[in-house]
Amino acid sequence: MTDHTKFDDLHIETLAVRAAVERSQFGENSEALYLTSGYVQPTAAAAAARFAGDEEGYTYGRYGNPTVASMEMRLAALEGTEAAMGTASGMSAILMMCLGLLKAGDHVLCSRSMFGSTIKLIGSDLAKFGVASSFVSQTDLREWQAAIQPNTRLFFAETPTNPLTEVCDIQALADMAHNAGAFLALDNCFATPALQRPMAMGADIITHSGTKYLDGQGRVMAGALCASQQMITEKFLPVLKSGGMTLAPFNAWVVLKGLETLDLRMRAQSARAQILAEWLEKHPSVASVLYPGLASHPQHDLAMRQMSGLGGAVLSFEVKADGPEQSRARAFHVLDSMQMLSLSTNLGDTKTLVAHPASTSHGRLTEAQRQAAGIGQGLIRVAVGLEYPQDIQKDLSRGLDTF
Ligand SMILES: *Cc1c(COP(=O)(O)O)cnc(C)c1O
Repeated sequence: MTDHTKFDDLHIETLAVRAAVERSQFGENSEALYLTSGYVQPTAAAAAARFAGDEEGYTYGRYGNPTVASMEMRLAALEGTEAAMGTASGMSAILMMCLGLLKAGDHVLCSRSMFGSTIKLIGSDLAKFGVASSFVSQTDLREWQAAIQPNTRLFFAETPTNPLTEVCDIQALADMAHNAGAFLALDNCFATPALQRPMAMGADIITHSGTKYLDGQGRVMAGALCASQQMITEKFLPVLKSGGMTLAPFNAWVVLKGLETLDLRMRAQSARAQILAEWLEKHPSVASVLYPGLASHPQHDLAMRQMSGLGGAVLSFEVKADGPEQSRARAFHVLDSMQMLSLSTNLGDTKTLVAHPASTSHGRLTEAQRQAAGIGQGLIRVAVGLEYPQDIQKDLSRGLDTF
């Protein structure tokens, strides 16, 4: 529908603001928002050809929309993939990927540290349809290798992870997946293409929650898959048509405009996270800080190689305390003493969001499961926004200085 070749020789920073479908006849400078569920067909023959897939042209809102197409083109340009497909949320992108690539009898190999809903979807929901799965260490490649089965079709990883910021080696996992005849999918939600481009490291599919940094200002739910044109057309488009996990045009437009500032935001928020992590590491009330940008992070060197030398915008830290009860009380004290920062389990906003994983995102686990996952009662996650760093420190100090 659109001539992609005109974007071929442009730099990624230019594509972030320019890649989109053609302007309408009105010459709008900001991309148009097409709120329409249906399309008028020029002739009966054209309608027949479009429905048969013999001719390009929009037919129905569930199948496609020009505003959604602009978002897809821009995201694909940033990730360096041939194509992308927008979805209603990050989880619907992962569901679409699974429905498109897997069948009963297949096996999926995942990191144990993946996003909670991803583990539930793959470990429990897909199991009902005969898709088996194994969950292995985020960082120990031998565990991945040992868990490969003859029917392993998909490796799925996420890096850095939430809330412990563990980093896995994308290139090594891609090589291992390909040797096993499987695809590697990578959830690039935390680093985003501004810091990390998994396709260049061998990944076959990238999943996104547009809800997080792609929108970047906490406004809409959105998701996307990035992959080859062939995989998008042959595997995912049929699932979109029958499954209906369609991205709403308004939400696509918000994400499209968010992508224009993604690089600037990720660099600024990473820089603030680095300042905050270094400050927390020296604070007498803090036992440890988990942040890929710190030299003390177990995968620091790998993270710096993979993530353009930046640590991302999310960090976690553990308050100093004696035993789980005091840890929880002190963590709650820090959260309840804040006067400006947002107590919220979301992330990917320009406002700094602070959360207590053990009682929220990981609240349904038993204490033993939480211990095994490394989610202590004293752990606090900070998704760093764009506020002035010293103002963030001041708000956290209210609780940290008064144990
Ligand atoms: C939030 C999130 C998702 C799910 O995205 P939604 O848009 O909430 O459906 C998937 N993966 C990661 C890493 C996330 O943080």
